[in-house]
Amino acid sequence: QSKGEGRGRFNFFVPELQDRAEARRALELGLRAALPRGEFTLHYQPQLDLGTRTLAGFEALLRWQRPGLGLVPPAEFIPLAEEIGLIGTIGEWVLREATSEAARWPAPLRVAVNVSPPQFQNGRLVGSVQAALAASGLPGDRLELEVTESALLEDGGWGTMAQLQALKMLGLRISLDDFGTGYSSLSQLRSFPFDRVKIDRSFADDAAVVRAVAALGTSLGIRTTAEGVETPAQLERVRADGCTEAQGYLLGRPVPAGEVPEIIRRLGGAGADHGLGEAA
Ligand code: C2E
Ligand code: MG
Ligand code: MG
Ligand code: MG
Repeated sequence: QSKGEGRGRFNFFVPELQDRAEARRALELGLRAALPRGEFTLHYQPQLDLGTRTLAGFEALLRWQRPGLGLVPPAEFIPLAEEIGLIGTIGEWVLREATSEAARWPAPLRVAVNVSPPQFQNGRLVGSVQAALAASGLPGDRLELEVTESALLEDGGWGTMAQLQALKMLGLRISLDDFGTGYSSLSQLRSFPFDRVKIDRSFADDAAVVRAVAALGTSLGIRTTAEGVETPAQLERVRADGCTEAQGYLLGRPVPAGEVPEIIRRLGGAGADHGLGEAA
């Protein structure tokens, strides 16, 4: 073969490229086997209500316990799962697992589940949410779905809109995740039935943005969560700037399901030691 010759284009034998292709192939093979092998697990991160200063619920965050490689974060495999058409099946597992876990928590604590854009494309989302609620016994109003702006762009958002409305009929809350990082326009925020906007953590220190989004939320009747709150100063600021909820390492890192009861004890009730200070 002479592909590696000439001007050097099409040279697939650069070791670095070959390593990368092999790593990707291994990742894909491992990913296809992960669900049947039971290698996925969910971690849960607390979300705090800044008005009542109590725990509002948890966000379920996917982890892959890859044999020999430890806990793989979602950024390293979800894009590939979306690309190779696996995210639908994985997402259905996440829904079943998160709802059955949340059904054991005291009401009204809710669980928030992330949904990828392709999950709005396969026509199974509403049915699998219904099935997960039925199997777990979790009331629909204790399940929240977090969607990103890119989900709204497909087909002008009409297919997505119909599904979001069907999900709202089941009692679910819908939140717009990573707000500010995508193509969100104010009209999208108004025309889709969002209950919440989560301000991306890259803005945790940008008081002008936080204040503007919180004000927008107030005027549209939408709740606002500050993501990525890591310091007491940030917590104080996002509260003063009008956010209704906060999430971040300061309030708690994502933990395995077994550690959730301890967080509920610590953050859940009146007088809990949650670092939020005394109620005004
Ligand atoms: P996300 O939905 O925006 O989730 C928040 C991410 O920020 C999580 O990363 C969380 O661990 C991290 N985080 C929370 N607080 C802080 C903080 O104070 N500082 C910093 N530096 N990071 C913080 P994680 O778990 O690695 O998840 C990354 C993304 O992967 C998620 O972003 C979400 O888009 C996606 N993802 C996670 N689980 C699922 C899932 O089950 N399905 C789908 N489709 N996507 C998922
Ligand atoms: Mg999220
Ligand atoms: Mg986010
Ligand atoms: Mg994200």
